Amino acid sequence: MSKKVTSPEEFFGYQLGSDNNIARWEKIVEYFKKVEEQSDRIKVVDMGPTTMGNPFLLVIISSPDNMKNLEHLRQVNAKISDPRGLTEDKIKELVAEGKAVICQSMSLHATEIAGTQMSPELTYDLLTKEDEETKRILDNVVFLMFPCFNPDGEIMVTDWYNKYIGTEYEGCNLPWLYNKYVGHDNNRDAFTTNMVESQYAAKVMYRDWHPQAYQDHHHMGSYGARLYVAPYSEPIHPYADPLIWREQSWFGAHMAYRLEEAGKTGILNAAQFLGWGHLGFHWLGNYHNIASMLTENASAKLATPMYIHSDQLVGDGRGPIRGFPHYKPQTNFPHPWPGGWWRLRDIVEQVKISAWALLDIAARSKDIVLWNAYLKAKRQTERGKEGHPKAYVISSCQHDPLTAEKLIDKLLVQGIEIERAKADFVVEGSVYPKGSYLIFLDQPKMGAIKTLLGRTIYPDDQWTREADGSPSRPQDMTTDTLAEFMGVCVDPLCSCPEVELEKVAEHKVPAGKVVGSSEFGYIFEGRLNDSFRAANILIGKGLKIARVEGCAEAEERTFVPGSFVAPAGSEKALLEVAKETGVDFYALEKGAEGAKEVKPPRIAIYQRYWGGNMDEGWTRWLLEQFRFQYTTVMDKEIKEGKLKEKFDVLLLPSDATPLITGEKLEEYFTRQRFPGYMPTFPPEYRSGIGAEGVEAIKKFVESGGTLVAMNKSCDFAIEKLGLKVRDVLKDLKPKEFFCPGSTLKMRVETCHPLAYGMPENVLSVFWNSPAFEVLPSEFNEDYEIVARYPEREIMQSGWLVGEEKIANKAAIIVAKHGKGKIVLMGIWSQHRGQTHGTFKLLFNNLL
Ligand SMILES: [Zn+2]
Repeated sequence: MSKKVTSPEEFFGYQLGSDNNIARWEKIVEYFKKVEEQSDRIKVVDMGPTTMGNPFLLVIISSPDNMKNLEHLRQVNAKISDPRGLTEDKIKELVAEGKAVICQSMSLHATEIAGTQMSPELTYDLLTKEDEETKRILDNVVFLMFPCFNPDGEIMVTDWYNKYIGTEYEGCNLPWLYNKYVGHDNNRDAFTTNMVESQYAAKVMYRDWHPQAYQDHHHMGSYGARLYVAPYSEPIHPYADPLIWREQSWFGAHMAYRLEEAGKTGILNAAQFLGWGHLGFHWLGNYHNIASMLTENASAKLATPMYIHSDQLVGDGRGPIRGFPHYKPQTNFPHPWPGGWWRLRDIVEQVKISAWALLDIAARSKDIVLWNAYLKAKRQTERGKEGHPKAYVISSCQHDPLTAEKLIDKLLVQGIEIERAKADFVVEGSVYPKGSYLIFLDQPKMGAIKTLLGRTIYPDDQWTREADGSPSRPQDMTTDTLAEFMGVCVDPLCSCPEVELEKVAEHKVPAGKVVGSSEFGYIFEGRLNDSFRAANILIGKGLKIARVEGCAEAEERTFVPGSFVAPAGSEKALLEVAKETGVDFYALEKGAEGAKEVKPPRIAIYQRYWGGNMDEGWTRWLLEQFRFQYTTVMDKEIKEGKLKEKFDVLLLPSDATPLITGEKLEEYFTRQRFPGYMPTFPPEYRSGIGAEGVEAIKKFVESGGTLVAMNKSCDFAIEKLGLKVRDVLKDLKPKEFFCPGSTLKMRVETCHPLAYGMPENVLSVFWNSPAFEVLPSEFNEDYEIVARYPEREIMQSGWLVGEEKIANKAAIIVAKHGKGKIVLMGIWSQHRGQTHGTFKLLFNNLL
């Protein structure tokens, strides 16, 4: 093809990243489609619609010869990434034939706009340059690019920015979540793939392409380094192949070098961002044998320049352990930026060099990169074969078997190999029924499997303690142990069972069934999360659903308290719902004792501005998944009062009291950031329910409403409604108590309606959460403790300093208040839509 490729400047009419200009997503899509027609070095794949229906693109760039041969190259790469059964000679042939596969993604966090704005320029350079370096990249690399990981957010931010150009609010951030549901948490979704965007990326990275390196381009604050590149600082996570960390140093050094060579200042590496982070794509990938890295660019005010005085520039402020204690020259930061004007164009240029440099190093060292890919896969497989455990078994006999099936789905999305037992078997003294799943560790994704299914203990050492001995705040959660979050029992095995196995290729949650027929109705299990979905669908069809208070029997099975009953005559609807949800319905032999009809409560969820509340978004998403009807209420509706006339339950997603009330915000933001800091928003977006709203919520509860305060919002409920409850952790210093994102054991009163369907021993997610004691009063009976922490050995995974402070303390309390009640949910019962094991503690408030 010899057509002229249109340059970005010609197409967009301005230089990308120039002051006050942000190209909107549909225009960028148009650009990629246009140059795809003009060049034989590019292919644009529309992966499908985003959450809000915009196109999600994968752009593939390589030499014309490689582009013709793409499927073959993909297969060669797949073999190198899983070399089981191949000889070393064969691998050498494949390495010689193969191309390095490098994946990079842009602007996952939608206010971090430079990556997406840069992507057309990077593309144009790769499609048009004819120099030796470019040719080497095209010949030796297959470049996979997500030019925008969050198109929905890109559009929101662009429109928001354009609306305020020329006003005093130009360049301020979006007041709501930059995504329909999850906002900034979208990268935290990489291992649970709840969002469709995560599913697309998982398909490309973990199943189809297995890139050798992945880089995700972000922005950070404005007052430190101009750009951070790989590697991370300490501590590192235990289950990656060690070559991963060497590759990150190697690639990172090349990127930092090329930036210095280009005269860029303020480049930092090996600092600030920890090797042990949450399981976002740029961390999770490491356990999939992909060297997974971040860049973090200093932010301007979106596309508006920002002036920074030299004395405002600081290190990361978190002591020497993160490698950037102050803003002075050092080996990983030899050339500080002196301050002055900082613009989007500066960011676009530096991010382009870092993206290019990664392609360049991979092209220069293609054979080494591919040989490393082989070594990583081979060594991880060998470790899995020799180590302990050798496998994990997920019994088909589970408290909530349908949730266990969902776990299997999530592992398959990540390309993990799973086997299913074709018969019952006994191993290490335990009996497992036919249909149980086995996941052997002698596979290349050993690190990912251990990370998701095993126990994880965060290090407590010199890298995680400040000089005064205080525990240092980790990057995010200290564990993301998927099986624990989901409440699925996964047993480690040190020996391999003798049983015939079949590989699980395609997997679907099995359809449910209707067993027997009855004039008394049909009962379905209160232990299943999906029974709530089934009940909500049936209620939506106009059927009357009841819940039993005690145990019930049907078809020789015992059903736990809180199980659901559907009326006789509903068989056709039940069959449909069984198929959709996987829930089984059993014919009752007599009327279910103590069955009470469910009157679905009118649910309200509080939503605020100040950038939005991710827990609110996730809660909304989760309720939709389980087919609950709800209404979003903001300040106006709350302040108007008469809430009880409209609603029965008010959910307060996890939040700090100042962000709910709008009071003492300066104090709050000072604590969060620095003295005097207040984020800028137009007045109509400075939300808060105020004293009026607090009164309205009080009246709502006193007249019979239920207030569900989730995690941090418990503080609001205790203080503003004057509960006789104390958060025992509230004023403790980190040295005394610290638990940043861990799974803790909890004992639940399963006879309490709030805990219907729960097992007695539960793992719950604790992250800067409260723990309660009821203060003595004449009305102690008004406070029911639904769940508490055990006496000792409380932590399952993560990090817990000061265990004795929460020993035996309450985690969930129901407090009577007037005619209504307040539920203090001191855990993350729904955390990022991930904690299936505790969803029911939330759902029981709602049905
Ligand atoms: Zn980011």
